[in-house]
Amino acid sequence: MEFGFELALCAHLEAATDWVLARQLGGAVAAPGSRIVDIVGLVPGPAFDERTRITDRTIPPKAVESDAGVGEAVPVAEAVDARPDRARGIADAAVDRGFFTEERHGGTRYVRKATRYPDDWVDELVAIENKPDLGRPGDLRRQLRVDASLALFDRVVLATESHVTGAHLNRIPESVGVWRFRPAAGEHEVIREATPLDTDGPGVELLAEHPGRTDVAIVSADEKAEKRRRIAERAYGKGWRTYAFPGCDNCGATADGRPRCAHFDRVVDPASDCGESCSGWQPGDPASGDDDAAALRDARTPWERDPPGVARRQAGLDRFG
Ligand code: SF4
Repeated sequence: MEFGFELALCAHLEAATDWVLARQLGGAVAAPGSRIVDIVGLVPGPAFDERTRITDRTIPPKAVESDAGVGEAVPVAEAVDARPDRARGIADAAVDRGFFTEERHGGTRYVRKATRYPDDWVDELVAIENKPDLGRPGDLRRQLRVDASLALFDRVVLATESHVTGAHLNRIPESVGVWRFRPAAGEHEVIREATPLDTDGPGVELLAEHPGRTDVAIVSADEKAEKRRRIAERAYGKGWRTYAFPGCDNCGATADGRPRCAHFDRVVDPASDCGESCSGWQPGDPASGDDDAAALRDARTPWERDPPGVARRQAGLDRFG
């Protein structure tokens, strides 16, 4: 149920906003992996177009954070803060994505940034936690407390299909917004607006709760800024259509690219619902692939597929420099 709800909400937000959406991204700093956010909405900032021009994929964070400048090439070992083999891999990926250019001097490989990394291409990061059925809240309270006290995202929203009562609202942090979303109708109603969080300051990350005691880590403003940039990059490269369609003839693609099973008459999660053990399995070719997902994303969002890049332009300028 949650997978279908999540995809329906992504499709709805994609149509209703100019956000770049991605699913299932890490939202913790001190204990990475301890908090996975269901949907991240990246609200474009003033320099968004500068970012789209570079690459349609994620720029490796260590390349963004690199001391290598645009004007001066430096050896890879100095440019990327990582073990030598990892630094080489990161440099390869950054060159591949057109963010670094490379050159050789006396047998040593040097890199430089092909362009300045834009500072303000992201206006806001919105975290959305999906809980279609509030009668089965699972870990919801802890998840939202982590988000509210860490303040890594500008706004945090709980999305549900359930009727929301005052008791529900009292159990979650006041800053968390609440939406009621009906997947069948594709509409969302704002029950409570989210309060903007202080993303520029330090945050408190809840690590574990014991009776009478909570373990926390203080996360600095710089660590948060770095993590936010990483989330934005990941969201930009990843998107939300991350599933592979099953090789089953009963699975088709909705107009917005969700996997819909004709046999069970609903959107399915190919990873958990589909396979030869399914009673409706009909071997065939997958109804949709990565190319279709990218085409839909390009047509429906501000993400730009296969941009011309900036590296070649820089190389051209160099000739006259
Ligand atoms: S494997 Fe089963 S659930 Fe998946 S599309 Fe085929 S019939 Fe539907």
